[in-house]
Amino acid sequence: MAGREPLPRVNVCERAREWSSLRLDGELSVLEEELLERHLGVCELCADFDDGMRTTADAMRAAPVERPSRRTRIPTRRAAGFSTQRRRTAVVAAAACATISFAQRVLSTPVRRLRRSVSSVRGELVTAEGAREPIDSSALRAAPERALRWLSVAMPLVALAMLFARS
Ligand SMILES: [Zn+2]
Repeated sequence: MAGREPLPRVNVCERAREWSSLRLDGELSVLEEELLERHLGVCELCADFDDGMRTTADAMRAAPVERPSRRTRIPTRRAAGFSTQRRRTAVVAAAACATISFAQRVLSTPVRRLRRSVSSVRGELVTAEGAREPIDSSALRAAPERALRWLSVAMPLVALAMLFARS
């Protein structure tokens, strides 16, 4: 009877052990499982291996999840970079700069208009005591121009504060 040449015994055992492992994960076909069972019935070494695999797998699956005794912290990007304190400082300083910049624009627009496109200003202030003060272009510009000078000092001070907060 000319049958298929049987696999050498070593290869049969190797395959059986591979299947033992795959069966634990439910990755064996019905046919493969049948062939495995047949081999385990006649090969004591592979049957022992299969028992050992199952016992080990069952023990591992039944064991409670181990918790590490020490806490492990993975540094976040925030911790590695800027601290919350520094970020807060930077945000507030940026808001201060934006506010100063807005105030400068509010003041500079009428000042620029008086300088560039107003040819004459007429009027007077009459105080409660009856004193009269003439209003001209320079009188209208005086207060906002002084405020602009103070604000131009405030802006670099905020920038300096940011620099100190960083170091
Ligand atoms: Zn075997």
